[in-house]
Parts: sequence; structure tokens; C-alpha cells
Amino acid sequence: MPSFPPRPCDPARRASAAFALLGVCAAFAATGCGPGRDERPSIVLISIDSLRADHLGCYGYPKPTSPTIDAVAAEGLRFETAVSTTSWTLPSHAAMFTGLFDSAHGLVENGLALAPSHVTLAELLADSGYQTAGFFGGPYLHPTYGLHQGFEHYQSCMTQLPDDLTGEAVRESSKQSLAASHRDVTSPRTVAEVRKWIEQADDRPFFAFVHLWDVHYDYLAHPGILELFDPDYQGSLDASAFLLNPAIKPDMDPRDLQHVIALYDNEIRFTDDHVKDLLALFEWKAEKENLIVVITADHGDEFFEHGRKGHQQTLYDEVVKVPLVARWPAKFGNPRVVKEQARLIDLMPTLATAAGAKAPEFVQGRDLFGPLSRGDALAKEPALLELSVLPYDLRVLRTESLKTGEGSVGGGEKKRFGFRLDRDPRETTPLAADDPELARGIEALHGLVQSSRALNDRLGADPERATVDPKLEAWLDQLGYTGGK
Ligand SMILES: [Zn+2]
Repeated sequence: MPSFPPRPCDPARRASAAFALLGVCAAFAATGCGPGRDERPSIVLISIDSLRADHLGCYGYPKPTSPTIDAVAAEGLRFETAVSTTSWTLPSHAAMFTGLFDSAHGLVENGLALAPSHVTLAELLADSGYQTAGFFGGPYLHPTYGLHQGFEHYQSCMTQLPDDLTGEAVRESSKQSLAASHRDVTSPRTVAEVRKWIEQADDRPFFAFVHLWDVHYDYLAHPGILELFDPDYQGSLDASAFLLNPAIKPDMDPRDLQHVIALYDNEIRFTDDHVKDLLALFEWKAEKENLIVVITADHGDEFFEHGRKGHQQTLYDEVVKVPLVARWPAKFGNPRVVKEQARLIDLMPTLATAAGAKAPEFVQGRDLFGPLSRGDALAKEPALLELSVLPYDLRVLRTESLKTGEGSVGGGEKKRFGFRLDRDPRETTPLAADDPELARGIEALHGLVQSSRALNDRLGADPERATVDPKLEAWLDQLGYTGGK
């Protein structure tokens, strides 16, 4: 837990010797306290990479992975079913920031960057007078992918990749740079960078986006934490090369797989402990009462539930259901569990509206906080899930009770499939090919895909491509690390 002097609006602040000793920026001298103070909420959006919802205590997981996130949920809103737009980092964050499904924002392949003409949440908030800051721990959040749009301050917290790498190098060598980053531990630096920014931030309300990377494979053991999840493992397997390790396979020893999952859980707890530090920093800067905290994820991870490990290969619920908890004491005084399906694309209009900014009319997400603050139920809205990165070409429509989809792998035959989530939440029993629900779902899927592609055409916001920079290749060669996702 960081130790901090009294908050900026605390009357004791100016007399605090500790404050002076810490050398906190003189910008705090003008606190914005008193009449004329900007009453709009400050906003913190935390995206924890690869965090599946069902491994958190507040989602029913029996192990102590998430005391901090659970506490946020217990004081605010927990969305029982929140879904991404895909199962990998780049498109899902683009969807989170633009409020658009993947076919509409267009950022669906490696080596592309979000078009500058897109309107992002950070741009909306910056334009309406917020100070905006982004902190990221994985290569796909590098500015070269365009997700930095609207952030006045945008900070890499990666420690495996040198900060001075050019954007072109990171983008064009994304596979290798991602592989190198798998062994990275970024949460401690993220807390340090957020603290540095907090110390010089001014008195405007702020929007801070924090991408936490450590739950993403590889799953590295953290002394003192792993023991919470698997204290008596006698085997020799570790998950330090999760994707490349041939011993981590569908028919592996169940006890070893249990250990791999314990390592995943240990990364969640390690990250949750840093979320605690981050929240302490943000709550020092802003009144907790009027501070919006949203914690979510870009996608989950698979542990052979459907034969595969990791992510970016399927659209089953283990990789598309993400946690979504939100706390805003001034607005939501009583904790509430929201049953209706929420989507990552809803976050952009939700947070823009909460800040008094107006999301563009074409945004496909909807405001979640408005109806909930009035005590209303959310309208039932479908989610479009897409995986368009080679060799996959999959699209799924997800409602609260039904998943229907079609697609192919490796250019093979296009197949249709569906699951009744209300009866078969683990997606083990596909609908029969002649089931009328499958036909209806596919028709609705086609409608949503078509309207999303038409929107992409209307916006004229095609992603950009980049060029090769040999500098990163040489550096990665030195690391002796290639392959992986
Ligand atoms: Zn990710």
C-alpha cells in the first residue's frame, strides 16, 4: 500500500510536512477546492489482460484470487454476464474505446492500427476538459496500434521491451515482441508510473486507463502467492513457456493441469494486489465518492475446456466472458448485481455519458449507468463476437440464452453451430443443424454483421498498415525467443 500525504482537498494538506518532503508538484497548490470546483467524476478504467470472469471470487470462484476486485464489486455494480467482442487484445480494446463491434471499427488483424478518424473515449473526455492518461503493459497497447488516441499522457509499463523501440518495430514484429513480453512482469512498474503521473496531475477531473498485463501467459510463479493456490504440488511442470511447452496439452496429467491453473490464479492474485495499490493512488487524488472505478478484461483464457489453451482461437465463453465491476458511490449507493448481458462496447458511451460528454450517435454500445441509476432493467442487447485473424474466420451472435455462429478455420468448409446457454452454459451440446433457433440466430447474426460492415464503410475509417524495422528483429534474436501469440 503506498503511503501518501493528505489528499489535495484536505485542509491539513498545506501544513503537511510529509507533503513537502515527498516533493509533490506545486501544481497541487491550486486544488480546485471550494466554489467553482469541477464536480464531474474522475474515471479509472482498468483492463486486466486475459482475465476470465469465472476465476474471481465475486463471480463464484472459491479460491482467494481477487479480494480487491471483490471489494469493488461489493460496493457497486457487478455485471453477471459481460462479454468482449473477440478473444484477443487488439480488437477488444479498440471496441472498448470506440463503442463499436470489430467489423465496425475494423481493427481485426495483426499489423493494423486504429484509424485516426475514429472517435475514442479518451478523445471525447479530453475534448470535454478531462485530463487523460493511459498506462499499458503489453505490446498491442503500444501507440503504434492507434489505441493511444486522446491520451495526453500515454505510458509504456513494459519492462522486457526497451522503451525506445519505434512504433513500426513493435507493430511489424508483434508476434515476436508479444512472445518476449510473455515473460514480463509489469504491474510494479505500472503502479510506479501511475504514482508519478498522479504526483504531477492537475485539478481537472481525470480519466485514467490502466492495462495490466501479468495475468496474460506466461504464468510466472510469485513467491508467497502461488502457495495460496497449490501448496502441495510435487511435480516439475511450470508454465513459463505456456504456448510453446509441449507438455501443456489436452491429454496432460490432470494434476499438472491443475497446477497450470493454479499458476494462472497466482497471477490474478498478484495483479489484484497491485489493483489495490492503484486504487489507493487514485482515491488519494480524487474523492472516492465521486470516483468511477471500472474493472474489466479484454478476453479470457482456455484450459482445454474445448481442446485448446490460451486465447485467439475460439469464441467460447471461457475466452469471451469477462469480469465487469463498477463502483461510483455518489450514484450507486447500494451494491447491485446486474443480470442483463453487458458488452465491452457499452463502456465507451457509459463513461462518456457519466462525464457529461456525448458519444456519437453511430456508436453501437449503450449507456449502462443511466437506466441502472434510475432503477430500470437494461434493454436486452445481443453481442457480436468475431475472430478474423488467420487462420480463423468466425462470427457468433450471443444473447443471454443463445449462441449461434458460423465460420471456418484455415479456409476450410464454413460451418454453422449453436448452443443454448440457458440449458448448456458450458457449450458442450451443439444445436441440431435443423433446429429453427439456429436458423433464426444465424439470420440475426448476418443482420448485425452487415450493419456493422455498413457502419465501417460509412465511417470510412480503415485501419492503417505499417512497415518493418529491423532493430527489433535483431534485439529479439538476441533474446533467442520466437513464435507464440
Ligand atoms: Zn489480451
